[in-house]
Amino acid sequence: MIAVLKPNASPERVEHLIHWLKEQGLGVHVSQGEFQTVLGLIGNTAKVDMEMIQSLDIVESVTRVSDPFKAVNRQFHPDSSEIQAGSAAIGRGHFALIAGPCSVETEEQIIYVAQQVKAAGAHFLRGGAFKPRTSPYDFQGLGAEGIRLLLEAKKATGLPIVTELMDIRNLDLFEEVDVIQVGARNTQNFDMLKELGKTKKPILLKRGLAGTIKELLMSAEYIMANGNEDVILCERGIRTYESTYTRNTLDLSAIPVLKKLTHLPVVVDPSHATGHADLVEPMAMAAVAAGADGLMIEVHNDPPHALCDGAQSLTPEAFAATAKKLFRIREAMEP
Ligand code: PEP
Ligand code: MN
Repeated sequence: MIAVLKPNASPERVEHLIHWLKEQGLGVHVSQGEFQTVLGLIGNTAKVDMEMIQSLDIVESVTRVSDPFKAVNRQFHPDSSEIQAGSAAIGRGHFALIAGPCSVETEEQIIYVAQQVKAAGAHFLRGGAFKPRTSPYDFQGLGAEGIRLLLEAKKATGLPIVTELMDIRNLDLFEEVDVIQVGARNTQNFDMLKELGKTKKPILLKRGLAGTIKELLMSAEYIMANGNEDVILCERGIRTYESTYTRNTLDLSAIPVLKKLTHLPVVVDPSHATGHADLVEPMAMAAVAAGADGLMIEVHNDPPHALCDGAQSLTPEAFAATAKKLFRIREAMEP
């Protein structure tokens, strides 16, 4: 249920109403917009006397939200959310380029790539330390050492880092990580999502391999319902019957759909969505044009010899050329 308050409602009266609603056993999510305050009510709202709330002179309207996702719902928070992570921000007009290798391999590699993507305009460095690989015989990532190397690259460049957590038991290692990635294989690991909800770290939540838009939003709801409001959604392609020429199918329509349904920032990963380096630029451009708040792009110093996902990785030079085009599209979209 949401209650939209009148613009002239005094802070004392608003506070009093929030207190009363909480006494009814409801969670109250307050969204302070430029012109209006919206109270999002979560919990068993069935027994709440809607007419009584509607009759209060500080209340403009009361509506029931029928969607199962509440805290992530744009109705609860009409303004787009802006998420601050390290020195960068994403959402509400802040566009973020996240770039780096699929996996952290060596200190020289990660620092070199970090410097290159930074020079090309990237705002975040990505790199996997814990890798979800289909085969147990493939490179599994450097683990704790990979996180250490990412932090070295952060020190060298100032870029905030994004890296994947696969096992909640490793959370302590992520203390200085700026954004924790939840990969497509863990989107519905609800126990992990609940634990991440108790942290204060921004979470980049990927869409599941065969996940629907609603399922992605419900996974974000798990994080938010547990107290963490800093969730970034990531469309990374979904499984369809095509797998010969593209690794996954990039669901571009998910961008405007998500932007309509939720206030959370939406990032697109054209690397995992396509699986081929030559498809990354066109799909990245399309994603920006469709309204994405950011992109996550794999960049490797030597793609043919990458330990993971070389075929879809851009060289630093190719990334710089792509980034230029992406910034020009963003500029053209400015009102
Ligand atoms: C990744 O970003 O390296 C990754 C494994 O992505 P996904 O979870 O989308 O497959
Ligand atoms: Mn990868």
